[in-house]
Amino acid sequence: MQPKDLLVLTEEFGSPLYVYDATTIEQQYNRLTKAFSKVEKLRVNYAMKALSNISILKLLKKMGSGLDTVSIQEVQLGLHTGFEPSDIIFTPNGVSFEEIEEVAQLGVQINIDNLSVLEHFGTKHPKVPVCIRINPHVMAGGNENISVGHIDSKFGISIYQIPHVLRIVNNTNMTINGIHMHTGSDILDIEVFLYAAEILFDTAKQFNNLEFLDFGSGFKVPYKKGDIETNIEELGKKLTKRFLAFEKEYGKPLTLAFEPGKFLVSEAGYFLAKVNVVKQTTSTVFAGIDSGFNHLIRPMFYGSHHQIENISNPKGKERFYTVVGYICETDTFANNRRIAEIKEGDILCFKNAGAYCFSMSSHYNSRFKPAEVLWKEGKGYLIRERENFDDLLKNQIMVEV
Ligand SMILES: *Cc1c(COP(=O)(O)O)cnc(C)c1O
Repeated sequence: MQPKDLLVLTEEFGSPLYVYDATTIEQQYNRLTKAFSKVEKLRVNYAMKALSNISILKLLKKMGSGLDTVSIQEVQLGLHTGFEPSDIIFTPNGVSFEEIEEVAQLGVQINIDNLSVLEHFGTKHPKVPVCIRINPHVMAGGNENISVGHIDSKFGISIYQIPHVLRIVNNTNMTINGIHMHTGSDILDIEVFLYAAEILFDTAKQFNNLEFLDFGSGFKVPYKKGDIETNIEELGKKLTKRFLAFEKEYGKPLTLAFEPGKFLVSEAGYFLAKVNVVKQTTSTVFAGIDSGFNHLIRPMFYGSHHQIENISNPKGKERFYTVVGYICETDTFANNRRIAEIKEGDILCFKNAGAYCFSMSSHYNSRFKPAEVLWKEGKGYLIRERENFDDLLKNQIMVEV
C-alpha cells in the first residue's frame, strides 16, 4: 500500500486505525500454496487468533483456506463467517473437557495435546476421530515466550509418550486420524523445521488410520530490511519431496496441512496513529502518540520490532526518536529510532501490524479499541467501527452498596 493511501484512510476513518491490505494476504496465501503445489492434498488452515475480524476470515475462506482455532468462540466466529465445520481444526491447550466435547459435537476436527484428555475423550467418544499434537522437543523460535516445541513446553504430547498414546488407542478403540506439531513462532532455519518433520513422520508410521499430517506454522516474516524470513519456496521443495516419499512408505495418500497466522497477515497490516506530543528531554526526543500498548502490545509484551514511518513527512530529515504511547506506565513502541522529522499532528505508520495486534488489544485505561479497515483494489472498507462509550459500559452493572 502507498503511504498516501494510508494517510487518506486515516483522515477518513480517524486515528488510531488498523488497515489491512487484502492483496498482501492473497499473495502470501498463493505463495504458500504454490510452494507446495506438487502436494495433491494441501490444506491451509489460517490460525485465526492472529487476526480474527470476520471480513478477514471471509477473504481467506474465498481463497480456499480453512481455520485453525484455539477456543470455541473462534470456532463459532468461523461458523458464523460461513466455514463448514469440516474446514475447521480445533487446537486448544488447557481448555475444559466440556469445551472440547462441545466443539466435537459441532463436527469440527479435534486436536488433543494431553494424555489424560485423550484417554477421557477416547473412552467417552470412541467413534470421533481425533488428531494428536506431539511435542518433538525441537528448539525453534527467537523468543522464549513464543517457542513451544522445547522440553518444558506446556504444548503437545511428548514423543517419548507415544507408547502410552498407542495403549490408550488400543484400549479405547478410538481413531487417530492426524498427527500435528507446531514448533513455535519464528522458525529461522528450515533445517530445524525439516528435522522436526522427520520426527513427525517417525511418529506417524505408528498409526494406521491417518488422513492428514499437520506441520503447524511458525514461519518467520521480515520485520525490517535485512531480516531473515522463512524461505517458503525452499521449504516447499524439500518438504514436498519428503512428504511424497513418506506417502509411498505409508501406503496411502495423506493431506499435508499447515496453519499459518503471522505468515498470512502480518505484513498486510498497518497501524496508524497520530502524534500528540513531541517532548524533548535531556537525553532523547519522545514522540507520544494517541495510542498505547492497549492497542498494540507486542513491543512491550515480547519486544517485537515494528518499523515506524512518518507518513506525514516522508521526505523529512531523519532524526532519532523514542516512540511512546499514552498508557500510564512504561509504554514504549520503539527506542532511539531514526524517523523522518516528526511534528505534532503527524501520522506514524507501524508496519507488520496484521498479526497479534488488534486481536491482542484491550480496554486498558478505558480507551476505545480502534477501527479496522480492509483495503481492496484501491478502496477502503470499514470492517470494524471504532468503539464508543457504550462499549466501555457494556456488561458493567452499577450498584450502590
Ligand atoms: C498460534 C498458532 C499458530 C500460528 O502461529 P504463527 O506464528 O502466527 O504462524 C499455528 N498453530 C497453533 C496451534 C498456534 O497456536
